[in-house]
Amino acid sequence: MIICFSGIDGSGKGTQGGLLAKHLRLKGKRVFESKAYGDREKESFSPFIGQWSQEAILMLFQALHIEQRKDAEAAIARDEIVIADRWDESYLAYHRNFGTLAKNKALRNELNRIAFDGVIPDIGFLIDVPVEIASIRMEERGKDFFDRLSVSYHNTMRKEYLKIAAERKWVIFDGTKSPTKIHNDIIRIVDAIIEPR
Ligand code: ADP
Repeated sequence: MIICFSGIDGSGKGTQGGLLAKHLRLKGKRVFESKAYGDREKESFSPFIGQWSQEAILMLFQALHIEQRKDAEAAIARDEIVIADRWDESYLAYHRNFGTLAKNKALRNELNRIAFDGVIPDIGFLIDVPVEIASIRMEERGKDFFDRLSVSYHNTMRKEYLKIAAERKWVIFDGTKSPTKIHNDIIRIVDAIIEPR
C-alpha cells in the first residue's frame, strides 16, 4: 500500500508523514518512508541544479522518481506500508503549467509512465495551505533552491494540486490547522482502511 502526502513546500507533508509513520510503527506495522528528493539528494544536487537547463532538471527528477517507485515496489513486496512524500502529482502539477512539456501532453504522460510505470498511491492526502503561510514556515526552516521560487509559481502549484486531488478523489486537509488535529483526522482514515472492523 502506498500512502502519499502532497502539497506545496512548507505545507506539512514531512511533519504528517513522520507522525503517521510513528503511529503505524507503534501499531506494529512495518513502514517505508519514501521521498524522491530527500536531504541526501538535496546535498548532492543543490550546487548544480541552479545552473542546469530545465530539461536537465526534468531528467534528473524523473531519474529520482524511477528510483523512488522501484524502492516503493520493493518495500511493498516486503509487506511494508509506503509513506510517500510526493508521488507523480508534483511532476504533473509542474509540467502541466511550465516548460516544454506544458504543450505536449503525450510526451508529458509518457515520461510520467516511464518514471512511475502506472503505480499510483492507494491513499492520497493533500495538505493545502495558503502560499503566504507556507512561505513564512519555509523562512523559519531555511530556504533551498526550490523554495526560492516566486509566490506566483507556488500559487499555480497550489491550484494544480487542488485540481489533481479532486481528479483522484484524494482527501484534502486544511494545513493551517494544528499538526495534531490533522494527524488525528489522518489516522482515523488510515486505521479504518488498514484495520477494517
Ligand atoms: P513540507 O514537508 O510540506 O515542506 P514540513 O512538514 O517540513 O513541510 O513543515 C514545514 C514547517 O512547518 C516545519 O517547520 C513544521 O514544523 C511546520 N509545520 C508543519 N505542519 C504545521 C502545522 N499544521 N501548523 C504549523 N506549522 C506546521
